Amino acid sequence: MAGREKKELHARGYLQTIFECRCPRCREGKLFMHPLSFRFKKTMEMNERCPVCSQITDIEVGFYYGTGYVSYLIALVITVISFLLWALIIGFSFSDTRFAWWLGLNSFFLLLLQPWLMRFSRSLWISFFVRYDPDWKINKPNDGERIIPGQMNNW
Ligand SMILES: [Zn+2]
Repeated sequence: MAGREKKELHARGYLQTIFECRCPRCREGKLFMHPLSFRFKKTMEMNERCPVCSQITDIEVGFYYGTGYVSYLIALVITVISFLLWALIIGFSFSDTRFAWWLGLNSFFLLLLQPWLMRFSRSLWISFFVRYDPDWKINKPNDGERIIPGQMNNW
C-alpha cells in the first residue's frame, strides 16, 4: 500500500452540507467560527471566507437579511407539525390545560432551537447562491458579485 495516493474523502451531499453548516462550494469548510451555543453573538460569527476553498461567505451587503424570513417560516412549519401531532396524540380541549401545555412546550422548543435555526437558515440561504464545484481545488472562487467597499461611494 506504500506510496499509494490517499483516497479522496467521500463528498458530502447537499442536505448534509446544509445541516452541518458547511461551505456550499467545497462542502468541506465550516461557515461558522464557533461551535453552536446559546451565546448568540458568538454563535453567529461567520468565517469571512471558507477556511478550505476561500469562498466568500458574505456575498454582498445585507446578504443574510432574508434569512430572518427563512427561520420564521421554518419555525411556523414546526409549529404546525407539533400542533397536528399534539392534536392526534394528546388532543385539544379549551376546558382543560392541554392547549396551554402545547403552547408553552412549543414556544420553549422553538426558543431552544433558535440558535440552530438561525445558523441553518444562513447555511440554506448561501446554498441558493453558491453552487457546488467538484473542482474547487483547481478553480478559484468567484468574487465577481462582491461589493467592493471602496466603490460604494463612487457615484
Ligand atoms: Zn469552501
